[in-house]
Amino acid sequence: MIDVIIVGAGPNGLMLAIELALAGIRPVVCERLSAPTTEQRANGLVGQVVRMLDRRGLYHRLVDDPAPPQPAPGFVFGALPLDLRAVPDNPLHLLQVPQAHLERVLAERVAELGVQVRRGHEVTGLTQGVDDVRVAFSDGTTLRCRYLVGADGGHSVVRRLVGIGFPGVSTDRAVSRTAHVGLPAELVDVSTGGLAIPGYGTVPPFRHTRTERGLIVWAPFTGRPPGLSTIEWPDSAQFDGPLTLAEMRASVARVLGVDVPIAPPAGDGPHLLRRLVGGNTRLAERYRAGRVLLLGDAAHVHSAIGGPGLNLGLQDAVNLGWKLAGQLHGWAPDGLLDSYEAERHPVARRVTMSTQAQSALIAPGSEVTALRVLVGELLDRPENAAHVAALLAGADIRYEMGEPGGSLVGRWAPDLVLHTDAGPVRLAELTRPARALLLDPTGTLGPVAAPWRDRVDVVTGRTEVGTGPADAPPGRTDGGTSTALLLRPDCYVAWQSTTDGGDGDRLRAALTRWFGQPRTDRS
Ligand SMILES: Cc1cc2nc3c(=O)[nH]c(=O)nc-3n(C[C@H](O)[C@H](O)[C@H](O)COP(=O)(O)OP(=O)(O)OC[C@H]3O[C@@H](n4cnc5c(N)ncnc54)[C@H](O)[C@@H]3O)c2cc1C
Repeated sequence: MIDVIIVGAGPNGLMLAIELALAGIRPVVCERLSAPTTEQRANGLVGQVVRMLDRRGLYHRLVDDPAPPQPAPGFVFGALPLDLRAVPDNPLHLLQVPQAHLERVLAERVAELGVQVRRGHEVTGLTQGVDDVRVAFSDGTTLRCRYLVGADGGHSVVRRLVGIGFPGVSTDRAVSRTAHVGLPAELVDVSTGGLAIPGYGTVPPFRHTRTERGLIVWAPFTGRPPGLSTIEWPDSAQFDGPLTLAEMRASVARVLGVDVPIAPPAGDGPHLLRRLVGGNTRLAERYRAGRVLLLGDAAHVHSAIGGPGLNLGLQDAVNLGWKLAGQLHGWAPDGLLDSYEAERHPVARRVTMSTQAQSALIAPGSEVTALRVLVGELLDRPENAAHVAALLAGADIRYEMGEPGGSLVGRWAPDLVLHTDAGPVRLAELTRPARALLLDPTGTLGPVAAPWRDRVDVVTGRTEVGTGPADAPPGRTDGGTSTALLLRPDCYVAWQSTTDGGDGDRLRAALTRWFGQPRTDRS
């Protein structure tokens, strides 16, 4: 019997396959499409996910730069500028990468780890037994597995087959259009990369620009044709056939109030012409029904504004992987698998709050313009910009660890450099095998964790906050040169030493809570 069947070879299904394989489980990925899709979706990653990919050794497969990820000096929130230069410990990282490239890199890693991806396998039915799930495919074949994960996108068949509700709201008013375009060279401001449009003004690059009639985004990508996107909210709209450049040009003229001479893009296609009408904000009622779990878009859908989808979904996968592996290896304590939903459902709810708030801020009308003036004033304050940056990054998450200890408990471990006997090493290099880690600056706690050594690695060395020599300014040492940390495989801090004594007992309790009974105690 197969341990885990993952339905869907999208980015989130592939990421889960990597996490399970690193944890010693061999899942099988079943994908209905016979070849990777050519649909163009995400243009980039926004938030903590960029550093999370670094912590799995995947960042440098996507980026041609040996330096660790660096925070972004600015971004946008609801088409308002977000200046992050004065934000201390700015958590917001960005990575411009087409989703197809990300999926290629994930698929390569999946193949390296020996995971089978069975294409042309469309799931059409499933039945749960006491200790298995029987999966039916459209060609009449069946497979049995111990657990099944539906990573089959927003229209998830798995979610429907297990009867998990998907409440939320659907709207049919917003019409968004995106096209690869050619524009006269004289419209492009070479110093900023923005568009200088006579009769309107400047449309900056890679920023949402709102007018009282709609929204426009100009995206001058390198190595691929530039893109233009608009969003409008017409009272009624009917369309005959797919988007054309003439329709795109008319939309840009309505949004900006002036005509822009849009031409076909240069170079070979396929060139993007996409019209989407309406949108959904929906969250699965539950992430688990018996032996079936939901992941990524199958569990939550929302507006793509601000690009939060993959930050959410890929970190769902990293949260679920080690817990499901623990369940299959037999060491998972009671409730570990259910902590996936307990931890990630509220995160998804927070993302939908953020995308709905941003959608409200880009809507047409003079009242919204007035609201934007006020919110813009608030975002000018660094403390408010920091709050929103943490929201967009997902850096404001604090999981309940059942452990009263220090300020890092429940939080994602900061970037650290460990000064070990073998020299300095970035935390991101230590977390690549996706195992739990005890960072022990004094070398005294290793024996406490020794009975869990099949699940927890111990690293002895002084810790320093920062990403190492490439960091400017250099790393700080106030993050706890003498602080010991227990990190779960998803890099969240499960335990932190204190100065009150009793560290050994508290560490033992945390190890048992997250990694079950020690090896010597198990029958
Ligand atoms: C226009 C657009 C722009 C976006 N931009 C961004 C962005 O800039 N940044 C960002 O982070 N996110 C963005 N997103 C969101 C991001 O694309 C999604 O969150 C992401 O694709 C979800 O991945 P997934 O693996 O959960 O699902 P999907 O990518 O939908 O993959 C699901 C897979 O399951 C397969 N499948 C479905 N049903 C079955 C079945 N019955 N049997 C077997 N296989 C099945 C499908 O063929 C598919 O391959 C954007 C989305 C859209 C639509």
